[in-house]
Amino acid sequence: MRNPSSVSVVCVEYEGLLNESQVALTSWANERVEISGRRGRDQYIELRTLQLDFLKAWALLQNHKRDCEVCQVISTVEHVHAGTEEDKVQSLIYH
Ligand SMILES: [Zn+2]
Repeated sequence: MRNPSSVSVVCVEYEGLLNESQVALTSWANERVEISGRRGRDQYIELRTLQLDFLKAWALLQNHKRDCEVCQVISTVEHVHAGTEEDKVQSLIYH
């Protein structure tokens, strides 16, 4: 049975962490495009910093999901629905 109202459960903390991950990933991806062709030590360090920012945000998100009861319920529901926001982020990382 698919009741649309049952899918509207949202974990605010998760949404915030996901948003931070997406912002960090976007900065990292943009920087990668921008500095390609002019690689220097400064660019490398900056890129590395952005990458670490993203990985930190992503790790927080994963830790939160593991420990949060609300997120456990949501992930069970989301198995039914393909293409979550997190899948989109993941497809960008392993692109
Ligand atoms: Zn949560």
